[in-house]
Amino acid sequence: MQTRFIFVTGGVMSGLGKGVVSSSISKLLQLSNQKVSCIKIDPYLNFDAGTMNPIAHGEVFVTEDGGECDMDIGNYERFLNQDIPKSHNITTAQIYSNVINAERKGEYLGACVQIIPHVTDEIKKRIMTIAEDENLDVLIVECGGTVGDIESLPFLEALRQIKLEGGSENVIFVHVTLAPSLDVVGEQKTKPTQHSVQELRRIGIQPDILCVRCTQPLLEKTRKKISLFTNVSSDDVFSCHDVESIFMIPHVLYEQKLVEKIFSKFAKVGYMNTSENWSEWNSIVNSLHQSKDPIKIAMVGKYVTLADSYVSVNQALKHAGASIGRQVNIDWIDSETFNGNLEKLSNFDGVIVPGGFGTRGSEGIINAANFALKNNLPYLGICFGFQLAAVAYARSKCNLENANSAEISPDTSYPIIDLLPDQNNENDMGGSLRLGANKIDISKNSIAHKIYDSETIFRRHRHRYEFNTKFRTEFEKNGMIFSAESDGGRRMEILEVPSHKFFFGVQFHPEFNSRPGFPEAAFKTFVNASA
Ligand code: GLN
Repeated sequence: MQTRFIFVTGGVMSGLGKGVVSSSISKLLQLSNQKVSCIKIDPYLNFDAGTMNPIAHGEVFVTEDGGECDMDIGNYERFLNQDIPKSHNITTAQIYSNVINAERKGEYLGACVQIIPHVTDEIKKRIMTIAEDENLDVLIVECGGTVGDIESLPFLEALRQIKLEGGSENVIFVHVTLAPSLDVVGEQKTKPTQHSVQELRRIGIQPDILCVRCTQPLLEKTRKKISLFTNVSSDDVFSCHDVESIFMIPHVLYEQKLVEKIFSKFAKVGYMNTSENWSEWNSIVNSLHQSKDPIKIAMVGKYVTLADSYVSVNQALKHAGASIGRQVNIDWIDSETFNGNLEKLSNFDGVIVPGGFGTRGSEGIINAANFALKNNLPYLGICFGFQLAAVAYARSKCNLENANSAEISPDTSYPIIDLLPDQNNENDMGGSLRLGANKIDISKNSIAHKIYDSETIFRRHRHRYEFNTKFRTEFEKNGMIFSAESDGGRRMEILEVPSHKFFFGVQFHPEFNSRPGFPEAAFKTFVNASA
């Protein structure tokens, strides 16, 4: 095997930060001049994350090639500053449907089709194909879920087989666990880690490295005890204690000599000195910690009860703030509760409306857009936020009473936002949106052109409805300009109001292209205007 593999599993409970550990390890190796990438295995039965509620599962991250993926893919992209293709998010449904299709085609030549070897072979094939096609030095594979879950068993079995076949100098298992401290005595407890490693060993996997989540750095005696009970050398037990930002974790692990450990386990000698790479990364990480003059942004949306449901938008705002040396404080406001009480928006420096679907809460968003419009308050509307800004403008400036989006009110007399004429109303909810990166043409002499400094950009999409171009002239007569389009003018991509301080809407999702140290231009301009 040319590619080395690091498999990251999780124990004790979900939400421990396997994604951050996987991203951090890949970052460390990238800083060591290795060609790396990450895979996220999601053992659930959905084909992809597209049909899952963001409040329960976090944001649906859209890749350049149109994958609706788990939000961990977004973490990988932000840590590595590298695009991750959709093939890197593997789910049970994808594996099983391949196996079932192959069986129907008779490709198993009469064999009884079983989890081992047919399903496990399919999993191994998916992983190996990526390693080979992308010519990687190291591929980090994060297995979602918690050890002991029924769904993850075939995946863990496949990973176990890869190590058996590839040898221990090519494969490392990293297990992420928890050492909780009970408040009363403050002692770091090791039992949950002991149990989850036992569970892992029961299915034939001995972890090589443990990353132990804890509030305070792992004490020496805790480390020793964990080592004794898990059969992992105490040098291979790493403390993943709480720090201010997830982007500091690579350094936390580096200081404990994780890179040396990985290279020596891989029997790879002479890895590159990384100090040059580190200085750029460190300055990016430091820039993200701004405490001066917070800029107050109101984020008005539907899925505000879980911060993770808009994680890329939150991150993009921070990247933009960092670029001008300012902290960005985000208040999430549930658009559903937002009717008469608009005045509270005056306490903010800017309003952002992220993506969303369906009727619920839409009037609150339209009201908020209208408030920003009237009060010269910077506004950035993304996808749904673009569409409803147009609706607000239609009602208040173009005299189109009760204008709406056909998604919200199919019988409206002014369908400002509608399906394209040739778009039939598909019943299939999964994967039927307009997805992924598309070319966008920007008009010269527009605000958009100033922001992007280019006549073409590529940005990611995830939507079904469009601005209805029948109304374009009416809008432009009244001061709202559509300054970017795609698909030969069939789709409007950017709206702007030149007479306003900053009123900008984008049909695409700029948040997916923003990375630490490299803020996306629309976010940067919005945060600047708010500042
Ligand atoms: N619901 C809208 C559409 O389908 C907007 C989607 C979004 O905000 N991602 O077009």
